[in-house]
Amino acid sequence: MNTQHSYLVDLKCSGCGKIYSANEIHTFCPDCQSTLIVQYDLDSIRSHIDRDEITRRPKGMWRWHEVLPVVDKQNQITLGEGDCALLSLNNLSKTLGLTNLYVKEESSNPTGSFKARGLSAAVSKAKELGVKKVIIPTAGNAGGAMASYAARAGMQAMIYMPKDTPKANIEESRIAGAEVILIDGLISDAAGMAGVKAREEGWFDVSTFKEPYRAEGKKIMGYELAESFGWELPDVIIYPTGGGTGLVGMWKAFQELENLGWLNKTKRPRMVSVQATGCAPIPLAFQKKAMFCDFWTGAHTIASGLRVPKSFADQLILKCLYESNGTAIAVEDEALMQAQQELAKAEGIFAAPEGAATLAALKDLINQKWIHPDEKIVLFNTGSGLKYLDHTG
Ligand SMILES: *Cc1c(COP(=O)(O)O)cnc(C)c1O
Ligand SMILES: [Zn+2]
Repeated sequence: MNTQHSYLVDLKCSGCGKIYSANEIHTFCPDCQSTLIVQYDLDSIRSHIDRDEITRRPKGMWRWHEVLPVVDKQNQITLGEGDCALLSLNNLSKTLGLTNLYVKEESSNPTGSFKARGLSAAVSKAKELGVKKVIIPTAGNAGGAMASYAARAGMQAMIYMPKDTPKANIEESRIAGAEVILIDGLISDAAGMAGVKAREEGWFDVSTFKEPYRAEGKKIMGYELAESFGWELPDVIIYPTGGGTGLVGMWKAFQELENLGWLNKTKRPRMVSVQATGCAPIPLAFQKKAMFCDFWTGAHTIASGLRVPKSFADQLILKCLYESNGTAIAVEDEALMQAQQELAKAEGIFAAPEGAATLAALKDLINQKWIHPDEKIVLFNTGSGLKYLDHTG
């Protein structure tokens, strides 16, 4: 049987549909400024690969290599990301009157957040395409993750961060050898500066959705969920949304899983996007049934990963919410900080403020009766509370 490491085919523009080669370096579509979507030969995988074979492989994100973009295994840069626990929240379930509540505990990833998944994929593919230096604007965790994977890949790294980014993010980037530039502004300002630097000096920009592969790493969370639930999907996924790579990535994974014939039931989850009331472009656009977001001015929230005034892929995020019959919800900083305490006291999980926001949102959704008590619900704790200690004092 003729099997390949990856069944990568090409890149397709999410805006105009134009096809780009996956053997060359691409960022986003130069014609229409939209995100490029990675395509695989799913029919071949379907006839060559058994889902149970993947379950038997050693743990980690890269056991799904057929649906990841790295063609030569030697280019895989891994620090042991993926296969984070799916925990049932029995104590909180009782308090909230639910029967099927889970958390995907992404804080056990290298560098303490799920950004590791995306940057493992992006840095690996960049290495495969001959990139020597990578640059990123970040609200925090993506910087630390990029610096770590770049160090392991032997690449130069440059990072633009708002100066009020949690200290852990700044230090973890510096210690891995990245050049860190602290700016007086938001991630959107950082993105502008990194973009200019990239063009002037030939750095490869791995900004969220401005390169095709970070979402591919994050989509594996969707594959893991399907496998954990016996090749079925949960009813509701509650996801703290900044740039939206995980949300859009998982939605893509569910389509791929259907096309691969790996799901026992094809019923899709309702996707919930959670943001903070101090920066809520997605809930606002969702309320207006809009297809894109307006730039959110004066963004502020303690959950630095959610401090994204407008995602480059706002249209893809909103499309996923509409297609899934999902919703978008904004929570106050006080509510997410209280939820952080509750998660730790009831379940022993010290979540990042972003992750805790999903519990605060869940409570609102229960009050609105948007959620049925017996539904299978998955919260995403996207990072460790330990990375934010200088902000909570
Ligand atoms: C980046 C980040 C988010 C937002 O993730 P996206 O996939 O970009 O929407 C949420 N939580 C944490 C801890 C993050 O670092
Ligand atoms: Zn295009």
